Amino acid sequence: MNDQSLLRAKAVTKSYGGAVASGVKNITLDITPGKITAIIGQSGSGKSTLLRLLYGLLTPDEGLISFKGERIWGPEEKLIPGHDAMKMVTQHTDDLNLFARVWDNVAAMLPSTNVKLKEEKTEQVLRQLNMMHLALKRVADLSGGEKQRVAIARAIITRPGVLLLDEPFNQVDTSFREGLQHDIRQIVRETGLTVVMVSHDPAEVLSMADELVVLKDGEIVETGHPKTLYHTPGNLYTAELLTNCNILNANDAKVCGIQTDKAIVVIYPEWIRIANVLKTSQWTVIEVLFKGQYEDLILENSGVILRTVNNEPDKYTVGDIIGLKIKRWLEYSPLQSSLKGEA
Ligand code: ADP
Ligand code: MG
Repeated sequence: MNDQSLLRAKAVTKSYGGAVASGVKNITLDITPGKITAIIGQSGSGKSTLLRLLYGLLTPDEGLISFKGERIWGPEEKLIPGHDAMKMVTQHTDDLNLFARVWDNVAAMLPSTNVKLKEEKTEQVLRQLNMMHLALKRVADLSGGEKQRVAIARAIITRPGVLLLDEPFNQVDTSFREGLQHDIRQIVRETGLTVVMVSHDPAEVLSMADELVVLKDGEIVETGHPKTLYHTPGNLYTAELLTNCNILNANDAKVCGIQTDKAIVVIYPEWIRIANVLKTSQWTVIEVLFKGQYEDLILENSGVILRTVNNEPDKYTVGDIIGLKIKRWLEYSPLQSSLKGEA
């Protein structure tokens, strides 16, 4: 085993037993230090299981998890579960002291041997997470999103080797989410913190992560940079996780002017241009979905439905006939499997 690696899983399998397959299978993964790795996958694909294995909250049935070359002890082998050099933040913020102030909740993570240093560090972390204005508030009086920030501040202040985040932004309002995501990115850039996060929000992983790990039915189906996986997903499953794409069979693709011998054609909404109406391209606007700055147009031609984006709201109404030009598409065979139902 290479001692240079920070956090590594080697052929790790964990099954919860029972009739249906569960847990994770044969996971080999090397977490890049100083970067944000995001684990994505539909609900039940094993994301939380993998994170808990990496932290030492679960013991693998097979394989090995190591931190800086040393095996991570499972909960049966260790009095306080979880690796000392790592911190995990989940949606549950149960370990906060609701009746203490934010400042004290965060400062309490440091020893009192050096009071001045403790104060400096507490202030630094509260500033990094833009929460100085909350410092004197009781945690009980905070919103769900603010409590999440306190939990993250408590984790970061101890300077963990790895910060593990299991969908921690779910409670946070969309408008505050971006701020928190940005602050965490900034901390990673400034301090070299290593983050492993679990998310099922495409916007979140695409904007935050340096690397993606795609899990399906407990197995890694592909890994790569967000941009690469977005533009050229190796699997239909990945495309479906990251985009709101159009999925057509080969017959329906013909209606879009695409000839292929593959079974499945994927067209991202932004790859469709509204163009002149031709005999060969006549689409009816069947729905206009207002999205604020833009609209989603739902279009129909010969029974085929396509979704596209329109950046000039109010230009089209239901019943209009428009032409389309498909700039790009992806082709998959059925083996490059897809999501089973809704994520
Ligand atoms: P995710 O976080 O991607 O939603 P999980 O890791 O929580 O997925 O779960 C993966 C699979 O393992 C699911 O099929 C789930 O039902 C099963 N599972 C998770 N935890 C347990 C448990 N404690 N006991 C039995 N099955 C479990
Ligand atoms: Mg989960």
